[in-house]
Amino acid sequence: MVKEGSREERIAILGAGISGLSLGWLLSRIGKQVTLFESTDRIGGLARTFDWHGVPCDIAPHRLYTQDQALVAMIESLVPLREHRRNSRILMKDKVIADPINPIELILKFDPKTAASLIMGFLARPKLPEDSFEALALNRYGRGLYDFFFEPYTKKMFGVPPSEISVTWGREKLRSSGLLDTIRRSSKTFFSTFHYPADGGYGQIADAMHAHIRGEVMLESKVTGLERTENRVTAIQYRRHGEAHRFECDRVFTTLPATLLGRMLGEDFNLRYRGIELVYLHVKKPRVMPYQWVYFGDGDVVINRMAEFRNFHDPEAQVDNTVLCAEVTAETDRPVEDVLSALERYGLVDRAEVDDVMVLPEGFGYPVYDRGFEAVKARAEAVLGRYENLHSVGRNAEFRHIEVDEDLESALATVRRLYPDATPNAAPDAMPEAIMPEARPGA
Ligand SMILES: Cc1cc2nc3c(=O)[nH]c(=O)nc-3n(C[C@H](O)[C@H](O)[C@H](O)COP(=O)(O)OP(=O)(O)OC[C@H]3O[C@@H](n4cnc5c(N)ncnc54)[C@H](O)[C@@H]3O)c2cc1C
Repeated sequence: MVKEGSREERIAILGAGISGLSLGWLLSRIGKQVTLFESTDRIGGLARTFDWHGVPCDIAPHRLYTQDQALVAMIESLVPLREHRRNSRILMKDKVIADPINPIELILKFDPKTAASLIMGFLARPKLPEDSFEALALNRYGRGLYDFFFEPYTKKMFGVPPSEISVTWGREKLRSSGLLDTIRRSSKTFFSTFHYPADGGYGQIADAMHAHIRGEVMLESKVTGLERTENRVTAIQYRRHGEAHRFECDRVFTTLPATLLGRMLGEDFNLRYRGIELVYLHVKKPRVMPYQWVYFGDGDVVINRMAEFRNFHDPEAQVDNTVLCAEVTAETDRPVEDVLSALERYGLVDRAEVDDVMVLPEGFGYPVYDRGFEAVKARAEAVLGRYENLHSVGRNAEFRHIEVDEDLESALATVRRLYPDATPNAAPDAMPEAIMPEARPGA
């Protein structure tokens, strides 16, 4: 067997989304040769960008927010970034309100009956055992705001009521503690500025990582199985252009959804991902709205969130068309019709202005934190942990609701743990010192 940590190690990376590319980039930096296997004909996964009608389009809005300046610097070493002031809103009950939600504004803006139920609900907050997202939201905000916003929005987002969602979701996502606490803070929910590539779309980050990889990125190569001994993966099986192949390896990094990997190991992990349908609309006017993205809070509107990509790019650019991307999480057989109706209802778009439509399904949009998922996830980690040379990295592999910066952070932590003594190679395209493990103590 090839000695681990040596130059000849054969490394397989499953998936060429941002997590696989981050691993490939970081491992290349320390002199490793890697082979990435990607089932589709393109790189970038959920963090890719494609061109449509001359507009760089992402998978819904993608923006970079982290308080870790070393990570921003690391990404900036690959791609010039521009800092944007966040300009987003929530559309609800035919009104435009602040994002994140500001209960005081709701009280002032909505009818007296709604205002009274928000205030009374808040004053009569229960003290329920916090065993679900419902209990947590009721304890923090009261019945009024729960019924007004959290219940319909959660159902639309995850397909089940908040009583079936784990309290972990609320603890990770709700940073505000109550009605009076409406101050914007620096968090994934309450950020006021964000970074985005200065040119092109978010997928520039994936493209730049790809350009630095030493080894091969095998597109249209679908991983179908893992050969293994009791505690090691010895080879991966994949299909390419209709033919079955195998790749012997010393180490495997997986970024594939944990459920897929489980099946390859003969295990059924009862974890759920929420699929999304992205409805792209080409609109024959320079701008539809001044916002980068808007949320739709109403339970009867199928859109969860909608982005206008032009507003991530040069605001001064003279253009005569724009692209919207509506993220549909609710169940519907007619996503395009439902999106157009919602936009007409809010006076955003007249359907006569839309001259092209495209629907893109993504089966693994969000890991869903169903009640009890923690135990299933712990079992999955234990099963995968039996294989000493198998490492899970990224949002769907780790079943964590994380973003690109955290995928990169996870890749970095994994590489640091496995190769603590690695040194940067001196290749002419060497990446900046910032990515080296020792430059990020405690990361
Ligand atoms: C709607 C939405 C909005 C988001 N907004 C933001 C944001 O604003 N900012 C941000 O930073 N992040 C955001 N994210 C999160 C971000 O997109 C993800 O964290 C990141 O893209 C996950 O990357 P990944 O490589 O782990 O997974 P993926 O992107 O899912 O990549 C996995 C790759 O594996 C491939 N694959 C699957 N099965 C196989 C197989 N059998 N064989 C070979 N290859 C396979 C897939 O084709 C894919 O390319 C958002 C995500 C979504 C869905």
